[in-house]
Amino acid sequence: MKTDIVIVGCGVAGLYCALNLPRDKHIIIVTKDTAQNSDSFLAQGGICVLKDEEDYDSFFEDTMRAGHYENNAQSVDIMIRSSRAVIDDLVGYGVRFEKEGEEFAYTKEGAHSKPRILFHQDETGKEITSHLLEAVQKLPT
Ligand SMILES: Cc1cc2nc3c(=O)[nH]c(=O)nc-3n(C[C@H](O)[C@H](O)[C@H](O)COP(=O)(O)OP(=O)(O)OC[C@H]3O[C@@H](n4cnc5c(N)ncnc54)[C@H](O)[C@@H]3O)c2cc1C
Repeated sequence: MKTDIVIVGCGVAGLYCALNLPRDKHIIIVTKDTAQNSDSFLAQGGICVLKDEEDYDSFFEDTMRAGHYENNAQSVDIMIRSSRAVIDDLVGYGVRFEKEGEEFAYTKEGAHSKPRILFHQDETGKEITSHLLEAVQKLPT
């Protein structure tokens, strides 16, 4: 078998990686199970996002505290700063997050001290991963 890139695993990480690689690369994704059997499909609660600039410090602190301050601060910064763009991307792939009127509905969970979690019913992981999988399956072979 010849290919440019092999991705092991087709949870959200593997799928999103595949969608963000250059289109001229030949990619093979391998998984030890069915494509629908991963933790990503099981995740229920939701996905955190930077609501507005005022929330940055609190979001950063909550994330560092949850990681017992062992997190790589630069990675946390990248995660927070890119969160809105990732959400826009997911919506572009057809992912539906709960709304209140025209605006996203934010909830609070886990280590988050403020509501900054987007969700889809109680099956956010399935909603996200199934749409990413669909998008990956449409990539040219
Ligand atoms: C019940 C539950 C609820 C959760 N709720 C939330 C939540 O609300 N919010 C949140 O942010 N996170 C939540 N999580 C955590 C979240 O699901 C994971 O952090 C995330 O899905 C990890 O994605 P991933 O792509 O890295 O891994 P996974 O989704 O675990 O995917 C790993 C992939 O690698 C494959 N694989 C593994 N080993 C091998 C191997 N040796 N050879 C080939 N393939 C292999 C697997 O088959 C799978 O396809 C939850 C997790 C669970 C289990």
